[in-house]
Amino acid sequence: MNENTPRGLRWTIRGLSILLFFLFVWLEGFVVDDLGSVEGPSRQRVMSGSVPEEVAAPAREARLKVDTLTREIGRLEQVKANRIQTRESASATLNQIQSSYQFEVEQQRAPSDELAKALGQAQESFLAASRAYEEANQRIGELQDELASEQVRLESAERRLQVEKDRVGQENMELWRAADGRHRFRVAASKLAFVVPVFLFAAWLTVRRKDSILAPIHKALLVASFWWIGVVMFEHFPREYFKYIAIGAAILIVLMFLVRSLRNAAQPQEDVLLRRRREAYQASRCPECAYPVPAETGAAMACASCGVELFGPCAACSEIRHVLLPHCRACGDATDRWRGTGDGEVLAEGQPG
Ligand SMILES: [Zn+2]
Ligand SMILES: [Zn+2]
Repeated sequence: MNENTPRGLRWTIRGLSILLFFLFVWLEGFVVDDLGSVEGPSRQRVMSGSVPEEVAAPAREARLKVDTLTREIGRLEQVKANRIQTRESASATLNQIQSSYQFEVEQQRAPSDELAKALGQAQESFLAASRAYEEANQRIGELQDELASEQVRLESAERRLQVEKDRVGQENMELWRAADGRHRFRVAASKLAFVVPVFLFAAWLTVRRKDSILAPIHKALLVASFWWIGVVMFEHFPREYFKYIAIGAAILIVLMFLVRSLRNAAQPQEDVLLRRRREAYQASRCPECAYPVPAETGAAMACASCGVELFGPCAACSEIRHVLLPHCRACGDATDRWRGTGDGEVLAEGQPG
């Protein structure tokens, strides 16, 4: 694309370049997304550290013992309640028989053998019920003592267990953070391993193939890759680093453009320079200082004002050639000498353009 390109076509190329930029951004986004969707470490596997058995076992055993004792005491309470009932009913029977017996005695009658026997049986069963009740009561008392001491053991075992659990939890958390950090780093690295080479390739194309007709495509790829480098860094680098990286990159880019603009201002681009040279030769003026020079004679000639060589022998065919034009008109040999001294100030001042 140069100044000879029609205006409409130039704008079409610009529009398509911008569209291409967005398409490149889109395409690279798919790749970056796919690279980012790599599965991370399993939280459960990483956080697998557990409380050591010598701490967990005593707590577990003490808990089991306390549960068993509590259940046993509950069962004995039930037994005791039944035995209370048995004793009460035995006591009621005994009272009843005793009062019958008493009544007989008060009436000055000898109580029958049957009654005496019933009284004896009632007394026996009341005593038996009382003994059974006492037994249950005593057993409950024993078990409660045991339970109390077991509960003390349980408490201390559980305190130790809790301390150990907190420690293990902390360790697991640290392991997880480290594993997660490594995963994030790997993802960031794989994304950068994609976008940075694309960027460098596009930069190489842009610089090396500056004059290629495909230059707008190279530039679109360059800017799209640069965009993705920024996005990946923003996503994966800690914010406090990213701000330095971002501002550093921004300064670098601005500097690059500035330096290029300054260079262009100091040293006109090749096509502009060539146009000036041709016009100067045609107008019989010195291309370097614009001093009028005599018409061409076919002999070597230099500028009388600034001394620059205007016509001289060709290095290839020895014919006299324009020194400040690219090609020898006799043999077509190309040299770089035509660019002259490259002294921009002389050009800028001396050339009306
Ligand atoms: Zn001159
Ligand atoms: Zn020649």
